[in-house]
Amino acid sequence: MSEVEYRSSGAPLDGYELTRKDHRRQKQSEEISERVRQQVDEDNAKCRADPARAERRRQAFEDAARLMQSFKKQDHEIMRWRVRLYCGHIIETEAHYTYSDPVSAGAHSNRCPECSSDGLTIVAFEPLGLRAEPPAPAIPPPPVPPKKPTRAELERRVKALEEENERLRSQAPLEGAPTSSSKDS
Ligand SMILES: [Zn+2]
Repeated sequence: MSEVEYRSSGAPLDGYELTRKDHRRQKQSEEISERVRQQVDEDNAKCRADPARAERRRQAFEDAARLMQSFKKQDHEIMRWRVRLYCGHIIETEAHYTYSDPVSAGAHSNRCPECSSDGLTIVAFEPLGLRAEPPAPAIPPPPVPPKKPTRAELERRVKALEEENERLRSQAPLEGAPTSSSKDS
């Protein structure tokens, strides 16, 4: 299932010089975060003034949370990434395995657990591996092996064969029937 080619960008653990592009991307990310914050503030103010709006929003959040829950992925569908954030800290992040890198997975604005900065862009990343091994592909179950006879059954069978042997030996060989001595060898 891992036909995705996972990309690396730089080596997160090595030293890293921020480029002009990194600074630009970080600035854009901060501007977007700021706009979102303003919108949330405005929305909060409107909700305080309008209980019906507040209730609609609460419902929308609940629906979204339920939807997210229904999309919950299994561990083998989650790719782990080592990323270096704009602030210089190295953290681990996760994305759906179908994304070739954590940036295209939408993880472009991160909170750093080390310095608590928010809205940080990723400046370098490398794949670490899936959270869990994918399950083996479904293969048809092997045919049920013939039941191994128990020792008692074997002994019974040997005894039956011996009795049959005895019985045959006590009878005169049928006419024309091959006997062990008539075989050429
Ligand atoms: Zn940091």
